[in-house]
Amino acid sequence: MTIERRDVLRSAAMLGLGLAAPAIGQPTRKLGYAIVGLGYYGLGVIIPQFAKCAHSRLAAVVSGDRAKAERVAREHGLSPQAIYSYANFDSIRDNPDVDIVYVCLPNGLHAEYTIRAARAGKHVLCEKPMAVSVAEGQAMIAACKTANRKLMIGYRCHFEPFNREAMRLARSGAAGKIRFVRSEHGFVQGDPGAWRLKRALSGGGSLMDMGVYSLQAAHYMTGEEPVAVTARESTDRRDPRFAEVEDMIDWTLEFPSGAIAGCLSMYSANQNRILLMGDKGRIELEPATRYDGNRMWTGRDGREREVTPPDAQANQFAGQLDHLADCAVSGREPIVSGEEGLRDMAIIKAIYRSAREGRTVRLERGA
Ligand code: NAD
Repeated sequence: MTIERRDVLRSAAMLGLGLAAPAIGQPTRKLGYAIVGLGYYGLGVIIPQFAKCAHSRLAAVVSGDRAKAERVAREHGLSPQAIYSYANFDSIRDNPDVDIVYVCLPNGLHAEYTIRAARAGKHVLCEKPMAVSVAEGQAMIAACKTANRKLMIGYRCHFEPFNREAMRLARSGAAGKIRFVRSEHGFVQGDPGAWRLKRALSGGGSLMDMGVYSLQAAHYMTGEEPVAVTARESTDRRDPRFAEVEDMIDWTLEFPSGAIAGCLSMYSANQNRILLMGDKGRIELEPATRYDGNRMWTGRDGREREVTPPDAQANQFAGQLDHLADCAVSGREPIVSGEEGLRDMAIIKAIYRSAREGRTVRLERGA
């Protein structure tokens, strides 16, 4: 069995895929999270999820907008001492109510706030993509190691019931020998002023955003790490949205078993699908990685049976937040660690290089 497969099986076990949840290492109190960045995701998606968490609670907010932060604090019963600005963020070290910092900022700020959080003695949950370069990812891991704090990446699909069931089915051999995974993610990016289109803040275009879902699905559906990548970019540079970053990029990953993944990300059409093809059948998810409403089918050569996981109602966000709280208490490594984020940064770098140079790029194992 390869190391990669062992890791996936371990991940599956830790996620409770078919196993009882371990009783040890669960917090006896709810751990406090500070949310950094009160934008669409931090404020609109994450903060409401604490109501559904067993081991996590909102303890502080960090924002450049004092009035917004005061309103959010009031709505969630936080004291004014639980409000931080980006300037005084480092003083969060003196707040014992905050155990974990959740970085929900534009990609180009992930490294700075992860490192500052670790130096302040806090565990870190950092949104995807981990950073905008391999060097930043390495510095983030080093800072958390030095501070003896956990680092987890916001790969929420590892806690999403349909994706978890798809991983379990793929691992159980339900589709036979895995030959090909197709994974496509995109949405129409309509705002030309969005930070996602500014290279300094985003690190790149659709690949740094929806492409992370396609790449992650290629990993967790095959259970393998790729050894080579061949990529092609298609961007209409006359479109003012794409002056700095790419629109569409598709790439092929080759795996040691001979399996192939064909992945796509784009900012000019809506798409959200994962399809695994094996020699005994298929596993298909569409939509695949949304917040809710995901659906899954299996079949020999089509959508023959719709599959609803037994825990279909499980909340992926609460699962993610509570997992890091559990890891912080038990000392276990998160199933989606900084190292996993760094591996993806290295593959993303190779995807861009392959597209730029028009050739296949081989990947160092464990890069
Ligand atoms: P957003 O623009 O809605 O929010 C970003 C926040 O950062 C805002 O509150 C903004 O004020 C603040 N900010 C601080 N400094 C800034 C600066 N210099 N420039 C711009 N904004 C600054 O973005 P978002 O959609 O919430 O995305 C934030 C992060 O979350 C990104 O890394 C993104 O990839 C990730 N995300 C993840 C998911 C998911 O499903 N896991 C979904 C959406 C976003």
